[in-house]
Amino acid sequence: MTPPRSPETAADPRATPEGRAHATPGAPRAPGAATRSVLDEADRFSAHNYKPLPVVLESGEGVWVRDVEGRRYLDMLAAYSALNQGHRHPAILEALQAQAGRITLTSRAFHNDQMGPFLRELCEATGFEKALPMNTGAEAVETAIKMVRKWGYEVKGVPEGEAEIIVCTGNFAGRTTTIVGFSSEEAYRRGFGPFAPGFRIVPYGDAKALEDAITPSTVGFLVEPIQGEGGVVVPPDGYLACTREICRERNVAFMADEIQTGLGRTGRLFCCDWEDVRPDVLIVGKALGGGVYPVSAVLADAAYMDVFRPGDHGSTFGGNPLGAAVARASLRVILEERLSERSDELGSWFMEELRAIDAPHVAEVRGKGLMIGVVIRKESGPARPFCEALMDRGILAKETHHQVIRFAPPLVIERNELETALEEIAPVLHGEGVRRGD
Ligand SMILES: *Cc1c(COP(=O)(O)O)cnc(C)c1O
Repeated sequence: MTPPRSPETAADPRATPEGRAHATPGAPRAPGAATRSVLDEADRFSAHNYKPLPVVLESGEGVWVRDVEGRRYLDMLAAYSALNQGHRHPAILEALQAQAGRITLTSRAFHNDQMGPFLRELCEATGFEKALPMNTGAEAVETAIKMVRKWGYEVKGVPEGEAEIIVCTGNFAGRTTTIVGFSSEEAYRRGFGPFAPGFRIVPYGDAKALEDAITPSTVGFLVEPIQGEGGVVVPPDGYLACTREICRERNVAFMADEIQTGLGRTGRLFCCDWEDVRPDVLIVGKALGGGVYPVSAVLADAAYMDVFRPGDHGSTFGGNPLGAAVARASLRVILEERLSERSDELGSWFMEELRAIDAPHVAEVRGKGLMIGVVIRKESGPARPFCEALMDRGILAKETHHQVIRFAPPLVIERNELETALEEIAPVLHGEGVRRGD
């Protein structure tokens, strides 16, 4: 199956539907009336828990999106990797529509005919015995925490109430109170305590630190194979394999949060595959819903999963037939369109091209597959104005962690589209159109 294509493929991403390019490439653009009205409304009615780029999108297809002014952009964020299959993938939309015409929600009080096949296909694709479906990533992480704690008490024999989970500096696992409680990011935590005990933080990338932190009460080690929100931080080679082995020796559950790195993003189906690591607990989300519906899941063998018994845990929408049908199609697209392989090939090439730009503002280009961070030098100011300049040129990317521009387009992207992107990225990394100090 060929990836969905925009009708104006290979055109300048700055081109409008009428075929005009923006007035002056890279020149600051005053938002039009349609954009302004939405921004004003958001300012007035929306909680200010985000600081989005001032662009208002109204449609999308594949790797392209269009704003309310009719401008077209290449989406190089892909909803934090929830859109690995691209916007409105036809096979996923078809599954959504077909299922919407049958039944959408049963609750887990009853069975439905989509959840069973979904979980079987997910287990087959990942090599685990059992799966537990949830909706958002944070819920899946919470689920994994509950499972591993209970495993600790019932199987490992940790005294009740003493289970400890080790996490890493720079972690991001969602926004619930338990999860932000073990964040090392002050902004995620400030004002939201008191926090749940039972977590210990060790430096990311340091296997020895993990080994030293393990106690008889340690039940799990929760780790992102690459830290996405932390700034596309790639740990040293061998880190995953080494920490996996430490966990095996010490009877600690190795819990991989692959919500962002999984499902093809880094050039393997899962980022742990790069080091032939099989986690004890695999957490997936984001692209599992194909960009149309929130679907997440926890995968593990029966030894862990069987600690859950009726009444222990649940979710009204988890495993619902609409989400399950969408997730089945989303998974099929990733496998059938070989999105992991595409990400590997295009990502290696694109990363080299980004490095070759050799711009004075760039400290480092890092990542794996099409999960790439361009680190802006401290002296050059934060990454945000660079992202604004990219937006002016028809490229949507978002800063993460102040200094990093993340490039993580849908994996259905074509090489010529990445070439077009490079033509716009290069001048921006050289500072063109970058308005500093705002
Ligand atoms: C996005 C993300 C989450 C949280 O997912 P939500 O769906 O936003 O709750 C957890 N872990 C990682 C690594 C993520 O990137």
